[in-house]
Amino acid sequence: MNDGTPTWRDRYPDEVTCVRCLEVLDQMLLDRLLWCDDCRRRARERAAWAGWLGGLAFGTGIVAYIWLVIEPTDLVIGGWVGTVVAAIWIGQKVAREIVYGVMRVRNARAVDAVPPGPALGGPA
Ligand SMILES: [Zn+2]
Repeated sequence: MNDGTPTWRDRYPDEVTCVRCLEVLDQMLLDRLLWCDDCRRRARERAAWAGWLGGLAFGTGIVAYIWLVIEPTDLVIGGWVGTVVAAIWIGQKVAREIVYGVMRVRNARAVDAVPPGPALGGPA
């Protein structure tokens, strides 16, 4: 695989600090933005939550539109329910990708880092 062509990995030493959790890891475990696997997974999970909120907000908008503008009859209500479910599902996926993309672009430093020293909350 390595044919001598320089890659982005050549710019870094073997051990690199993850920009999000500040753990020093083998550079093969980090991606181009210097995020480790755990940080990518955590960011994905957070984006998934935000995605569901976005999807529900989008679905609510669709319900309002169907209710107020289209004014459906009871006859095909199952079809409208299916439409709304599909809208929430698709909205969730789109919102999740947008949120994750924003996280990647902002590339905030040390958001998953655990501060050294005494645990937060003080003495119990
Ligand atoms: Zn990390």
